[in-house]
Amino acid sequence: MKLTLRYEGDPILRAKATPVREITPRVRRLVQAMFEVMYAARGIGLAAPQVGHSLRIIVLDLQDKGFPPCALINPVIIQQEGTQLSEEGCLSCPGLTARVERAARVVVEYLTLDGATRQIVGEKLLAAALQHEIDHLDGILFIDRLSPTERVKVERQRQRVL
Ligand code: ZN
Repeated sequence: MKLTLRYEGDPILRAKATPVREITPRVRRLVQAMFEVMYAARGIGLAAPQVGHSLRIIVLDLQDKGFPPCALINPVIIQQEGTQLSEEGCLSCPGLTARVERAARVVVEYLTLDGATRQIVGEKLLAAALQHEIDHLDGILFIDRLSPTERVKVERQRQRVL
């Protein structure tokens, strides 16, 4: 399966993605291909809409934070608490980074590729990554969540990118 990254401005990044009804071989191939795109781009997380599939699937690899590579199907935040400022970028918004206010801790329920229901508790970077990727499934980008100060910073970064 050949996938290409979609960038800000692509309408698929603004659509609400559809839940996965059944974990078919095609879904498994999509997940495999998503990991490949994520590693090639040196990202730590990727959502299916970022590669042109409007489905509720995310992949993460925060191995150096002690969290092994993982695919989450139909992830839902079922608990959240606290706040943190997380420094973020996005493979779909090249050249832009900003601090985003996120929950400090989240509990996410999801299906594994074997169809089992699991929960994951994320704090700090993992919590931020989960929220960032799940936002993609609802058509939200990190640049939508900026404070006025961070917005100014991103506008300056944009002028450098253009
Ligand atoms: Zn992103």
